[in-house]
Amino acid sequence: MTTLVFTHPECRLHDMGRGHPECGARLDAITDHLRATGLDTALTFRDAPLVDLEALKRAHTAGFVSELDAVLLDLETSGDHHAFDPDTIACAHTRRAVQRAAGAAVAATEAVMRGEARTAFCAVRPPGHHATRDTAMGFCFYNNVAVAARHALDELGLQRVAIIDFDVHHGNGTEDIFEGDPQVLMASTFQHPFYPYSGTEDPAANMVNVPLAAGAGSREFREAVREAWLPALDEFAPELVLFSAGFDAHAEDDMAMLRFTDADYAWVTSQMKAVAERHAQGRMVSVLEGGYALSALGRSVVQHMRVLAGLDA
Ligand SMILES: [Zn+2]
Repeated sequence: MTTLVFTHPECRLHDMGRGHPECGARLDAITDHLRATGLDTALTFRDAPLVDLEALKRAHTAGFVSELDAVLLDLETSGDHHAFDPDTIACAHTRRAVQRAAGAAVAATEAVMRGEARTAFCAVRPPGHHATRDTAMGFCFYNNVAVAARHALDELGLQRVAIIDFDVHHGNGTEDIFEGDPQVLMASTFQHPFYPYSGTEDPAANMVNVPLAAGAGSREFREAVREAWLPALDEFAPELVLFSAGFDAHAEDDMAMLRFTDADYAWVTSQMKAVAERHAQGRMVSVLEGGYALSALGRSVVQHMRVLAGLDA
């Protein structure tokens, strides 16, 4: 069975200003590496659809979705920019990009649950895991993975969804949306102390947060997965595994100071694949989060996707 890739040219056009690391070239780097390695021929590409605003309101407050959409619609017409925080800037193309990004996550989840593919990857931007119930922040507008998880639970009838987040930053938005929710288990590693300075103070029981100190690499990461993530995931027995797939913990990524390697992304994906095969009929949906060193991003996504596509263990 094939692996689906959801992406769209409109995700490239969202532009937060010259020199901003969360830029359209990130998607080019991923496409280039998929082509250069020949992995693209093993994948089925689909256009990311625009999300239904009702789907966003399952993860976010209705007021936040209406207000954000109104601001983005204004920018679409005026061509102006609006800064939600100093690093999170919307332009005329942002509305379409955020709707494609969340739409990809929902469509990928539906396709995998319908059995059209066992696994799917969403090569989309902007990322989502810092977006809380009612706040756009940290390069994120809508929380793509959270929207997909809520869709799986509320519309597709699942009872238990796992969210795996190995981005270098803690997914504070996803935690805000799901803390204390018995239908969601979030397993994450992140550099600490570091932006957004969350995830360590008295996390809820369904948040398996493993903070890593600056300089930590493969050994510490794999230990966290083996000792904290795997027992919790096996006890939880997810029916679907979602990834907040950020690649900014890579040693070559100077956004932060963790030292993950290309091989760590293949390894963690194969560990999660085993979990998905034990409990979730192998169903995995991965959504791009961070990753700013373009070559390392492209290579790491290839490692991740080779496992999703069943080409490696
Ligand atoms: Zn990040």
